[in-house]
Amino acid sequence: PQLRPTDLQAVLEDVLLLLHYELQKRSIHLVRCFHPVPAVAADVNKLKQVFINLLQNAAQALGRDGVICVKLKQAGENQVVVEVADNGPGIAEDLRGRIFEPFFTTKQEGEGTGLGLYLCRQIVQEHDGEIELDSRPGMGALFRLTFPAHPVNK
Ligand code: ADP
Ligand code: MG
Repeated sequence: PQLRPTDLQAVLEDVLLLLHYELQKRSIHLVRCFHPVPAVAADVNKLKQVFINLLQNAAQALGRDGVICVKLKQAGENQVVVEVADNGPGIAEDLRGRIFEPFFTTKQEGEGTGLGLYLCRQIVQEHDGEIELDSRPGMGALFRLTFPAHPVNK
């Protein structure tokens, strides 16, 4: 993949603009919390796909109303973290181990292929990153993506 030093805030802003209408249509409130972060070595189009998948999953889980929170922050010396959280139904404990499997879906036939999170994980791994689910009962779903900061030339 083509990895270039990338400002993830700009990527997130682009994606949120793309999804603005869908979120508005569903009366979903968006909270963004963007802290300054170092650049990440990224294939922008692939990362957009990841964020779109996560946000569409969150919107579908909510249906109507509710809140999606998108957070960007630095962790430690050289990690960049993106969190996409919603206050929907969350993911039942017995399903949590399976959501990243290809073709795993709980959606009606024709509404989901079950490839979204599988592809998200593939792409994040191509960026030497990690994606994990943090879901507590009754607290919605929180997906946390961690990327290594792009090494700075000194
Ligand atoms: P699809 O969206 O096509 O079902 P995904 O791989 O994107 O496939 O997601 C797999 C499954 O994970 C979904 O069917 C759903 O059960 C669960 N899931 C993903 N994101 C969320 C979320 N934000 N809230 C609740 N469940 C979710
Ligand atoms: Mg999906």
